[in-house]
Amino acid sequence: MGKSLELGRFSLGVGDRFGHQAGAQLRACMMAAKQGIDVIPVWNKSNREHVTIGSEPAATRAAADAAVKGLQWQKPYHVDADHIRLDTVNRFLPHSDFFTIDVADSIGKPADPGKVKSFIKLHPELVGQILIPRVERPFQTTPADVQRIAGTYLLAVQEAGKIYRHIAAAKGAGNFITEVSIDETDNPQTPPELLVILAALADEGIPVQTIAPKFTGRFNKGVDYVGDTAQFEKEFSDDLAVIAFAVRQYDLPATLKLSVHSGSDKFSIYGPIRRSIARFDAGLHIKTAGTTWLEELIGLAEAGGSGLALAREIYAGALEHADELCAPYAMVIDIDRQRLPSVAAVNGWTSEQFVSALRHDQDNPAFNPHLRQLLHVGYKIAAKKGDRYLDALKTHEALVAKNVTENLYDRHINPLFVAGREFERTQSLQPARAATLRA
Ligand SMILES: [Zn+2]
Repeated sequence: MGKSLELGRFSLGVGDRFGHQAGAQLRACMMAAKQGIDVIPVWNKSNREHVTIGSEPAATRAAADAAVKGLQWQKPYHVDADHIRLDTVNRFLPHSDFFTIDVADSIGKPADPGKVKSFIKLHPELVGQILIPRVERPFQTTPADVQRIAGTYLLAVQEAGKIYRHIAAAKGAGNFITEVSIDETDNPQTPPELLVILAALADEGIPVQTIAPKFTGRFNKGVDYVGDTAQFEKEFSDDLAVIAFAVRQYDLPATLKLSVHSGSDKFSIYGPIRRSIARFDAGLHIKTAGTTWLEELIGLAEAGGSGLALAREIYAGALEHADELCAPYAMVIDIDRQRLPSVAAVNGWTSEQFVSALRHDQDNPAFNPHLRQLLHVGYKIAAKKGDRYLDALKTHEALVAKNVTENLYDRHINPLFVAGREFERTQSLQPARAATLRA
């Protein structure tokens, strides 16, 4: 038996909607490697994105392979079939080595009462006071709590098992990385709920390496986190404690870590995330898909001339079709239509004005998060332009690539994985010495 495919400790989901930025994205990981931090790139693309763009999973694989070869990347990399279900997984099977099994649709649907009963019988440790190292206040659960949680999630976990076994039958167990996502649902999962879910995933025999819960607060597309960052940090820390505990208790893969979806641009929680993973010596997977497509638009706008004209045209199309573009993303955007500039106004903008409105620089008073969110979900408009859009990406390749790389490195990889790391390691490993440093 060979060794199972393992995901590195730090990994970055990079979405590349139009398949032209794999090299620019990989360069950001190479910059981290130069700083001594391995950040493993994972090219993720969901079925929904493929359908919207009219692309095929084979193209995602080809773009990733070409970038890796061209830049001589020697470390691992992966291609993630993002948010797949039993009815959408098949066309990804030959091309992906990472599968995000999305079972959010089954959450809350009643599981077989007999199965719920036997789960509870099998897990007396989940009832009562649960002492988990480094959780400040022990979890306290009643049998009714565990019954409710199991009732809510057990069917979803069973569904994940079905999809996992389907993939394993095709690819061979151990030849791919398994993520389970439960983020696209109404309510966030609390740390005790996460523990129950992990116990059930272990019972189901799923070697889950990343789990994507829904966290507290709003994770709107392409803009900053909205919510109580202190509460987020506490829950995130407790989730890390639960994962470390579950790995030992239920014999889950040692590589198991949290996956943060819609993780791009959440600048106000990058500090809390970085501190938490340093404290727990934990790994992290973070998905950043749409932020890259916005950098393509920024590059085009910055180029001026025909590039700027195309960017303005795409905004006009997005504004005209705002209702249909926003509908599938209603839970993950907050757009105040009153704050969206008119087409006439944008058509009068210079490169600098367009870039200032779109680039995620919260210190720039001209930054407009409403416009940014609309364009984030507006990639369908660019897809409809077909070769005109792709040709523009080629014409302005250097400027676009520069924006893609800088955005991923400066605004994401650096604050999450690189900056301040040595100091925080000191704090986590040597409390006494860290106290002296702080004093
Ligand atoms: Zn997701």
